[in-house]
Amino acid sequence: MNIIIFGPPGSGKGTQARLLADRYGIPHISPGAMFRAAMKSKTKIGLQIKDFMDKGNYVPDDITIAMVKKRLEDVDCAEGFMIDGFPRNLPQAEALDEFAHIDFVIVLKVSDKEVINRLSKRRQCPKCDKITSTEEGEKCRDCKVKLVQRDDDKPQVIKNRLLVYHDLTQPLIEYYKNKDIVRMINGEQSEENVFKDILLGLGDTE
Ligand code: AMP
Repeated sequence: MNIIIFGPPGSGKGTQARLLADRYGIPHISPGAMFRAAMKSKTKIGLQIKDFMDKGNYVPDDITIAMVKKRLEDVDCAEGFMIDGFPRNLPQAEALDEFAHIDFVIVLKVSDKEVINRLSKRRQCPKCDKITSTEEGEKCRDCKVKLVQRDDDKPQVIKNRLLVYHDLTQPLIEYYKNKDIVRMINGEQSEENVFKDILLGLGDTE
């Protein structure tokens, strides 16, 4: 099964994508995570994209499309894949149509108010990259190191990421709606209930 998930920043798409990838035994492909890893290890791409990422803007399409296309050619994607955060604009969606078939598009709906509330509390472990919340303490439970706030989760950047999402990514819902593969999910529920609704939307009732 080839699945795409999208939703505003902080909608929980990373968490749900991981759960779905585990359930179906398919790879979880997150361009955002791939870009962060490239920045961390200061690769050529990492240096090229830093400014876009820090400001909450999208990385240029040529870089993003080439990276995802190459990843989808890996053997582990042959039986299906779960893409989290791609495509994010029309040129990316059109490019994806050229090299992959998509079975389902899951859209997590979360209001701007809730996004701002969630992201201002979101923290990440600098060692294992696990995402958590300020409500769970100041240190990573596994690595025992102090959690940090991602630069792109700072208030000004969050506002820009939301603007970019509404401007460029939300119109994609219409693009896919015409193909009748979109599943709109209420993302303002517990992780478990969001997951249950997604499975129902996919017709997975086992
Ligand atoms: P995410 O972790 O999915 O929220 O992505 C974090 C950041 O990575 C985004 O704010 C963008 O700067 C960049 N990014 C991730 N996916 C894409 C994409 N499909 N197109 C362009 N930039 C992206």
